[in-house]
Amino acid sequence: MDFELNDEQRQLRDAARKLAQGEFRARAARWDREELFPEENKHRLAELGYLGLSMDREYGGSGAGLVDTYLVIEELAKVDLLTAMIVHDQNVSPRIIANHGSIEMKRRLLPRFVSGELECSIAWTEPQAGSDGTAIRTSAVRDGDEVVINGSKIFTTFGDRADMHLVYARFGKSSGARGIGTVIVECDRPGFTVKKLEGKMGVRGAAENELFFDNVRVPAANIVTAGDPANSAGFVRPLTLYNGTRVGMGVMALGVAEGAFDLAREYMTVREQFGQKLAEMQGLRRMMADALIEIEAARCLCYKALALIDAGRPDPALCSIAKVFATEMAQRVTVQCQQMFGGYGYFGSLPLERMVRDVRMLTLTGGTTQTQKNNIANHIFDIQSSRSPS
Ligand SMILES: Cc1cc2nc3c(=O)[nH]c(=O)nc-3n(C[C@H](O)[C@H](O)[C@H](O)COP(=O)(O)OP(=O)(O)OC[C@H]3O[C@@H](n4cnc5c(N)ncnc54)[C@H](O)[C@@H]3O)c2cc1C
Repeated sequence: MDFELNDEQRQLRDAARKLAQGEFRARAARWDREELFPEENKHRLAELGYLGLSMDREYGGSGAGLVDTYLVIEELAKVDLLTAMIVHDQNVSPRIIANHGSIEMKRRLLPRFVSGELECSIAWTEPQAGSDGTAIRTSAVRDGDEVVINGSKIFTTFGDRADMHLVYARFGKSSGARGIGTVIVECDRPGFTVKKLEGKMGVRGAAENELFFDNVRVPAANIVTAGDPANSAGFVRPLTLYNGTRVGMGVMALGVAEGAFDLAREYMTVREQFGQKLAEMQGLRRMMADALIEIEAARCLCYKALALIDAGRPDPALCSIAKVFATEMAQRVTVQCQQMFGGYGYFGSLPLERMVRDVRMLTLTGGTTQTQKNNIANHIFDIQSSRSPS
């Protein structure tokens, strides 16, 4: 068992830290305040190869494992969750395509994801199919060499700017997971429309959207995993990749918590009340100790889960545990750190107010805390029921 980063990993992390602290930190408040997507950050990330970190080298990526990829994303999340999400999301749909798409599709699309030229959203959730992702109704009907898509999606992050969407759709008459597959729908196809959801709490530079498909025709070659009413393979195959994504939510939460912690620690060494620095007050010191305990525990869970995925031995229950612990921890810790700033922390002139709002989304997306706990409970009872009576 080795908990040390190697030299290359340290260099990767330190370079990402320098970029985040030196360039992205100063601008983070602006994207939120003006509800702007940080194009200039995305260009920098593309230039430095961060958009293709986990992509195979043959498609222009770095071929890095998930531990390395998330070391970078964690550093970005310390200053700006939105910018961390750009790297995170640019590594999700492309990885599904890389694992399940045809050779032709991979050659055509993957290098362009790595360069940042293309973006692909995940369009899974529907109004009636949230936590129950198998309740989707969007249909995909084969018609010769084409597939006709009808239905709608909700909460699609970056759906307003993505060039294409990885759409979960039902092929043929079926229910539950059977018959569900995934297909790429380009944003310029006739019959496709998108509507931005307004009034978002945090990460305001990224829009969630409703997508509408009215007899949208795409070539059958756009199918990534074909749905078959006789089985659930088209649904289950891409799911394994969500283990990493789930932990990724945890790592981003960890980054936000660390960012808030660093700011609070700094402030506590200068702010004085009752003739004492805050850093000298026992009650506050204990709060910071508690925060650090939680941060370190989340780090161990997340990176253990990622290291197991990299080693080819993914542990889905541990991935859910890491997601729940880290995302719930980050909510507690960012609020505690905000508390150190007294009334000042309640205002948008300090990053704490944004961090508290931003981090809230991570317990919801990628599988809510409650559904992750269902996964963990299923794991517990499967183990018990498989034990022999002796
Ligand atoms: C900011 C943001 C970004 C998102 N981005 C995307 C995206 O890019 N693509 C995409 O497809 N989706 C996206 N989503 C959707 C997200 O995955 C869903 O919101 C999530 O799956 C929950 O579904 P729901 O909102 O319909 O809540 P519901 O499923 O209606 O759940 C309501 C409440 O009930 C609880 N609950 C539900 N079922 C159970 C159960 N069996 N046991 C215990 N508790 C339960 C939930 O935990 C929740 O607290 C995003 C959501 C948000 C908020």
